[in-house]
Amino acid sequence: MNHDPKTFTIIGGGISGLSAAWYLKKLRPNAQVTVFESSDKMGGVLQTVRVGDFLIEQAADMFVARPNFALELCRELGIDAELLTTKPVEERAFIGIGDQLYPVPQGLSMMVPTREQPILETNLLTAAGKQRFLSEDQIAPAEIDGDESLKSFAVRRFGVEAYEKIIQPMVSGIYTADPEKLSMRATMKRFVDMEKTHGSLIAGTASSAEDQAARGARYDLFRAPQEGIGQLISSLSDTLSQLQGVTIALNSPVSSIAKSDQQWTLDVDGNSQSFDGLIVATGADAASQMLVSVDSQLSSLLTGIETASSAIVAIGLKKNQLKKPFDGFGIIYPHIDGGQVIAISFSSNKFSGRCGDDELLIRVFIGGALQSELVDLDDEALFEIALAQLDKSVGLKGQPIFKRVFRWRNCMPQYHLGHVERVEQIESLVKAHTNFALAGNSYHGVGIPACVESGKNAALSVLGKGSSST
Ligand SMILES: Cc1cc2nc3c(=O)[nH]c(=O)nc-3n(C[C@H](O)[C@H](O)[C@H](O)COP(=O)(O)OP(=O)(O)OC[C@H]3O[C@@H](n4cnc5c(N)ncnc54)[C@H](O)[C@@H]3O)c2cc1C
Repeated sequence: MNHDPKTFTIIGGGISGLSAAWYLKKLRPNAQVTVFESSDKMGGVLQTVRVGDFLIEQAADMFVARPNFALELCRELGIDAELLTTKPVEERAFIGIGDQLYPVPQGLSMMVPTREQPILETNLLTAAGKQRFLSEDQIAPAEIDGDESLKSFAVRRFGVEAYEKIIQPMVSGIYTADPEKLSMRATMKRFVDMEKTHGSLIAGTASSAEDQAARGARYDLFRAPQEGIGQLISSLSDTLSQLQGVTIALNSPVSSIAKSDQQWTLDVDGNSQSFDGLIVATGADAASQMLVSVDSQLSSLLTGIETASSAIVAIGLKKNQLKKPFDGFGIIYPHIDGGQVIAISFSSNKFSGRCGDDELLIRVFIGGALQSELVDLDDEALFEIALAQLDKSVGLKGQPIFKRVFRWRNCMPQYHLGHVERVEQIESLVKAHTNFALAGNSYHGVGIPACVESGKNAALSVLGKGSSST
């Protein structure tokens, strides 16, 4: 270990890499920090664009306030006063099946019904499906050694119908994943623990005040900067660039990494540059390619973290173009419905300032792990899918004011069965190298707060300090 590293490089200028740079400078103000970003913009997938009155998020449109890593970063940057909470009305979402919309039953804590009445009242489930969903506390806990998929866990605890119509679309909206491969231990360990500790999830959530207050999604925890998620990125990268000893290099792809005794040497766009400490904050696949000659075992473990692709069709409308007013945050579509849309988010119903008062900003999510190939359709085909689904669910008149497609190829890591063990192996190999850490959404969480935390932990780690949770 180089005990007194002074120069550090971070590869990747997404939220994970920028957070790593921020915490490195906080922890060691005299450090020389260089961030290399291959594209011409900082922020990675976090990009906001304006089209006339419309403030459009190209990927994430909010972060949750708990765990509080993103909120804390906003406080440190002095932009916390500019964070919006969701609009006070319309705090609900729908499940779309055929041309029917069913409100997501109140009182769901992710997959767990914490209140009986809304389940008994919903038209979404049959009488038998309701009975099975609500009798989870009568199902004996299973003795499962090791990991289990979301589908297996949810069907076992709550029955096929609740899984297919409620749990699968709710979880797909977050992870865009294949539920038969998604690891419970990596994504919802608290439910696995609840089954073990309380015998059932209904009993476990009954003992938690937070779960009792649940309304299907943690809307009260949603936060978004007034000027969109891009404001977090511009504030972070502008503040960083003003700090002495920080260099932010755009259009600087790193193609390979080599290691000598005390130094990390990067090939940056054909030029060789050396540093004492290294944080790789790209997706696992890019990290794997860069690190192949440093550690082939690490590189091959990184390659095994698969990704999914998706497309977002952003649509601007006049409110009166909807045949019936829509008073929710969005609609999620179960895979059993057989459609091509994962979800429709009514962005302007969630946060203020996203468009004019008489307008609507809508984002339609297409693809994900179950239909990744759809991302390769051309714009016209994606518009057609998006507008047809919108018309089926809420009725549409005339042509949109604008429509745009954003494609995200291989951007969403998939935490498949065995992910936790794989990441443990990756981390033990990383530890064997001096002044080196990984950050990003491939390891311990895909949400923005988890990415900020990963950057913070990587900074602590290259400085030889413990992680933020230790
Ligand atoms: C469509 C979509 C919607 C989402 N919605 C939400 C949401 O609402 N809320 C939420 O909390 N999270 C959401 N997420 C998840 C979250 O936005 C991401 O997990 C997070 O932004 C990833 O940040 P990152 O820095 O780890 O990776 P990235 O943003 O992918 O950044 C990695 C960076 O590394 C650069 N790079 C790659 N290779 C190299 C190289 N060789 N040399 C130099 N640079 C390189 C890339 O250009 C990129 O800029 C969403 C994600 C997607 C895709």
